[in-house]
Amino acid sequence: MGKSLGIHLTGRIVTGVVEHQKPWSRLFHFPQDQEDTGSLLDTPLDRLIDLVREQALRAAGDCGPIDAVGLALPGIVRDGVVKDSPNLAQLKGARIAEKVHRALSEAGITAPVTVLNDADATATGVAAKHDRLDAFIRLWALGYGIGFGRYPYAPGIWEGGHCVVTLDSTENYCGCGGRGHLEGIMGHRAMRLRFLDMEPEEVFAQAKAGESRCKEFVRLWHRGLAAATANSIHMEGPGRFYFTGFNVRFLDMKLLQHYLQQMVTMSPLQNYTLEVVPMSDDLAVTGAAIAASQAAKT
Ligand SMILES: [Zn+2]
Repeated sequence: MGKSLGIHLTGRIVTGVVEHQKPWSRLFHFPQDQEDTGSLLDTPLDRLIDLVREQALRAAGDCGPIDAVGLALPGIVRDGVVKDSPNLAQLKGARIAEKVHRALSEAGITAPVTVLNDADATATGVAAKHDRLDAFIRLWALGYGIGFGRYPYAPGIWEGGHCVVTLDSTENYCGCGGRGHLEGIMGHRAMRLRFLDMEPEEVFAQAKAGESRCKEFVRLWHRGLAAATANSIHMEGPGRFYFTGFNVRFLDMKLLQHYLQQMVTMSPLQNYTLEVVPMSDDLAVTGAAIAASQAAKT
């Protein structure tokens, strides 16, 4: 295989070219301000496709032929169609693979387009970066929503961010509208809804300073993640879990371990490992390109 193009579409767009499972080009961002992580959340679909094409072309530049295009986005994707995407609602129902393929073909890139969940793409990128493309890994992406990714790809829904971690019926901040969901506790958007007067950064800072409501919330945040991880361990066994996303900065690994030890007590299930991977834009872009390259081979 030659070069493949990776595209990560969330509240912004990041693109890059990958060769031999490693970044070949630098990354291209839209908007260019890399602190701006949400300005595309309300952009209409057609405009988003235009922007994806522009950013894809910038990355492709004069790199030569592109053999595969991978597009990673948040949501449930089946056969190139976005079944649902609570955090990029304009994508719901879109035949996104077809639209992006048409847009890129008009611009001279005719390679097949593979669309996948961005947490799965990130898991693939992490596996590649750690030379573990032969291993089974799971990953939590802590951002606007909560992504759950796994590598290698396996058919299924895997909407781990929407798993139920509390029976408290007042827990209704999840973007999908479901009650008791992990994302309704941990997601950036959900935290803003819960603390209308404080940004998530302030909530975690206040918790450190001893403010009781914030302290209680930070415990709930970690217990929620421990519960979802414990559920995954009880369903699919122990193994390696990675944590990333822009809100991984709030993660206290000792506290997470503490709660997880309370929740996973059967000894054959206790050989799990937990590791933080600092948020890095190349992970989902590289992973999307590798997944597209693997799909094009089969
Ligand atoms: Zn939900």
